[in-house]
Amino acid sequence: MVDPAECTIKVMCRFRPLNKSEVERGDKYIPKFTGEDQVSISGKPFMFDRVFGSNTTQEQMYKASAQKIVKDVLDGYNGTIFAFGQTSSGKTHTMEGSLHDPDGMGIIPRIVQDIFNYIYSMDENLEFHIKVWSTSTTQLASIVPWFSVPDEVMDTIDEGKSNRHVAVTNMNEHSSRSHSIFQINVKQENTATEQKLSGKLYLVDLAGSEKVGKTGAEGAVLEEAKNINKSLSALGNVISALAEGSTYVPYRDSKMTRILQDSLGGNCRTTMVICASPSAYNEAETKSTLMFGQRAK
Ligand code: ADP
Ligand code: MG
Repeated sequence: MVDPAECTIKVMCRFRPLNKSEVERGDKYIPKFTGEDQVSISGKPFMFDRVFGSNTTQEQMYKASAQKIVKDVLDGYNGTIFAFGQTSSGKTHTMEGSLHDPDGMGIIPRIVQDIFNYIYSMDENLEFHIKVWSTSTTQLASIVPWFSVPDEVMDTIDEGKSNRHVAVTNMNEHSSRSHSIFQINVKQENTATEQKLSGKLYLVDLAGSEKVGKTGAEGAVLEEAKNINKSLSALGNVISALAEGSTYVPYRDSKMTRILQDSLGGNCRTTMVICASPSAYNEAETKSTLMFGQRAK
């Protein structure tokens, strides 16, 4: 039997800065930060494990949201980090950032770096096997595992990106219409004692959560958007069932939650990073994004 107390779920919230066109349009900056764990939008308060304002650095974000999970995965736990939010709210910036720039690197390249630093620092009796996958939900059938070193891991991220299915919508943005999943498996064996440890980590850049109406999507794009909304609400249901310690967790309601099942349940470490725009223009979408995160608390 799995002890639900073994499973921890943390929800953090990050606001990006106003972007150039928002500043030029004179958009109002709406979040009011009222503590380390609370933000208000037009007087409505939202509580999280941590709230991050617009000038939070990539390093601060990594330390607060991911570093502990890396340690847990190396101790044999399974972990998942999600980025959730509307298109252009900072999900990819948070998860990937600039892959080869030390200050700009997001969570994924920092995790890879930390794992390899740990491996290089360990004594010679430890044998490590690392596997990395990168895929999007539009091409789950074709996941190919391979062994790697850090630079090759970075290339996996780049490849995963070019394979992503992107459709242009009326918001004049490339809206990512699929979830992007990066998986790292770490197996360790102590060759002297034959003790084995195995942990895995899913890093998920979710598809944009915006309501279909606002983007003016039609036809196949509309169908795809409905599927995405369905899978995001299935994810919300799974996370809130886990947070409540409920005996029934509806993993089978979507492809993504089925795939993540063994990492989300059991001896898991889960962090959801809720990404949000600070502009008054996006207020309705931001509120519904924060509500989604709140459900997991
Ligand atoms: P999403 O993946 O949610 O669609 P992106 O991560 O691509 O959004 O972010 C949209 C734009 O805003 C990008 O140009 C990105 O570099 C920028 N951006 C996002 N978050 C931040 C941040 N915290 N600080 C500075 N720029 C950011
Ligand atoms: Mg993105």
